[in-house]
Amino acid sequence: MSAGSANPSLAWVGGRFVPWQDAVVPVEDRGFQFGESLYEVFPLSAGKVRLLDEHLARLRRGAEVLGIDHGIPEREEWLAAAARLMQADDIQEGLLYCQLTGGTCPRSHHVARRPEPFLVAYLRPYRFPRADIAERGIRVITMPDRRWAGCDIKSTMLLPAVLARREVSARGADEALLIGDDGTLREGTSSNVFLVFGRELVSPTQDAHVLPGITQPLVGEVAREAGYSVRSETIEASRLADADEILITSTSRFVLGAIELDAVSLRDGRPGPVALELAAGMRRRFEIS
Ligand code: PMP
Repeated sequence: MSAGSANPSLAWVGGRFVPWQDAVVPVEDRGFQFGESLYEVFPLSAGKVRLLDEHLARLRRGAEVLGIDHGIPEREEWLAAAARLMQADDIQEGLLYCQLTGGTCPRSHHVARRPEPFLVAYLRPYRFPRADIAERGIRVITMPDRRWAGCDIKSTMLLPAVLARREVSARGADEALLIGDDGTLREGTSSNVFLVFGRELVSPTQDAHVLPGITQPLVGEVAREAGYSVRSETIEASRLADADEILITSTSRFVLGAIELDAVSLRDGRPGPVALELAAGMRRRFEIS
């Protein structure tokens, strides 16, 4: 970090390292104007990039759908870039944010010849949740899902999520669980969900209304190793009230247990044992003590 500033010193833009203040987006960038844009958040801990292949695969899948997959760097280039950014600001634990847009050309919804995609990435320090955060748990509320039917793509069109989070905050909660018009549970505004029933973890079926999270299958793996069974199925929102535990998973939060659902306290306001056990398992995976 440069002295007196909380900003990174460098950004990785189109394959080059540039000073932070030079990492700017042209006004006719298609991500800026149309939301033709994807993002990923790569976790780094103990000086290592974690789950690089998984995040890169999701970025490539989304980029193919949007037709902006040309020129995405290979994994070795990502590793080298991450190493350079880690070194530049002496970061061992952080989040590498990356955004890929459709590039810049005169504004038009459809262009016959697409411009070169634009890729920017930068690293900020981040402290992954330790035991104290896991033990605090989170307060969740349910809300109707007002997003589009392409939520399996990690697009930057996050306005519905931003507005939902505003409401979450106004209602004194931490995360909203989004419910479809059909009454089924989908995911959080920026997290996936597991319900715990006994020794079983159940997640909503993966479809176009749910982002295929990178953390959720890893938490599922940790759970299987600990002897839980893990599966997905269509989940009626009414089952939230019957679950032994409600868990959310995401890159930045690992796995956290709900202590409140729609302003009703759960389990005397403490996360359950499964949440705590899996959070500890995730910290071990990330070499976090
Ligand atoms: N769903 C949504 C809508 C999200 O924004 C996120 C976090 N980006 C997730 C799920 C969790 O995904 P991941 O585990 O890859 O961070």
